[in-house]
Amino acid sequence: MNERSDGAEATRVFNFSAGPAVLPLPVLRQARDEMLSLPGVGMSVLEISHRSPAFDRILEETVADLRQLVGISDEYELIFLQGGASLQFSMVPMNLLRGQSAPADYIITGTWGATAVKEAQREGATHVAWDGEAGGYDRLPAAGEANLSPDSAYVHITSNETIQGVQWQQDPDVGSAHLVCDCSSDFLSRPIDVAKYGLIYACAQKNAGIAGVTAVIIRKDLLARSRDDLPKMLDYRTFAKNGSRPNTPPVFAVYVLGLVCRWVRDTMGGLTAMAHHNATKAALLYDAVDGSGGFFAGHAHPACRSAMNVTFRLPNEQLEKAFVQGAAHHGLMDLQGHRSVGGIRASIYNAMPTAGVEALRDYMLDFQRSHS
Ligand SMILES: *Cc1c(COP(=O)(O)O)cnc(C)c1O
Repeated sequence: MNERSDGAEATRVFNFSAGPAVLPLPVLRQARDEMLSLPGVGMSVLEISHRSPAFDRILEETVADLRQLVGISDEYELIFLQGGASLQFSMVPMNLLRGQSAPADYIITGTWGATAVKEAQREGATHVAWDGEAGGYDRLPAAGEANLSPDSAYVHITSNETIQGVQWQQDPDVGSAHLVCDCSSDFLSRPIDVAKYGLIYACAQKNAGIAGVTAVIIRKDLLARSRDDLPKMLDYRTFAKNGSRPNTPPVFAVYVLGLVCRWVRDTMGGLTAMAHHNATKAALLYDAVDGSGGFFAGHAHPACRSAMNVTFRLPNEQLEKAFVQGAAHHGLMDLQGHRSVGGIRASIYNAMPTAGVEALRDYMLDFQRSHS
């Protein structure tokens, strides 16, 4: 590393948290360096007006850079909202289902999809086209297995189920239906063919930055579905019309999103290179799982495995506890699975360096040797 290091940096551990999650070091350094005074502005980004020229520039650059990085055409609006991905569980049906005669189809491949459909049910008719619950959410539907409605308001999927570690390997084929995707935990981790989607949403705090901002990419013609009886702040049109600034936006979160975007583009080489890097990291852990003779048992079917959240079990809960505790002593933090499912979950988002994944892989091999 030829990067400048200071005392605090030397104490950093490898952070496998599912979110908020590890950020790229260069992003943290730039945010630190500019914290007291933005270049040419003389004030912190935390202090400036959201209507100032300085923030105009930050917002414009973030939108332009994100559009370019992801490949978002002029057919789509890109807007920034608050309320996290969870608010989108409500806003999507409020805007796209309210007043529609056809139901919204949900393909449920994990906890987040199951949470999303519950909110949609408050708003209108829904149809569960496929639900992996009986198998503990360990796979995706096979081609043609999802029972899609002949006519639907939209079809909702979760591209990466953060808790179970199940990830769509390609954009699903839903015919002419409008595909809506919760991309929260793999946004900016790989290319996405935006043209296949009606709406994509992602909170930032997994791969794209910090909590507080959620990106929504919506095809412009779908904005016409929103009805005038919606509360103004829950209507996508309000944000599209006002350039994501009907009120005070989360200025710092937007600023960090811009920094992350440029890090993915300039340092990591863009989304295709990022995807390759992520696949290589994930393979290090899955190879350790597969080579363990069953000591480590992967949760997801191999064909559905997530490159972001690697989930596996040990022979019993005591060993899992010992594994997590021992890992912490090696500076490998937050490896416990989500409280609802247990086991081990290693979240290895964009910013997790290969060295962190290698350290975890080595720890897995050592742990198995000393416990079997
Ligand atoms: C983290 C996450 C959410 C919830 O995000 P919040 O911003 O906390 O509401 C929803 N969906 C997925 C796939 C997630 O990973």
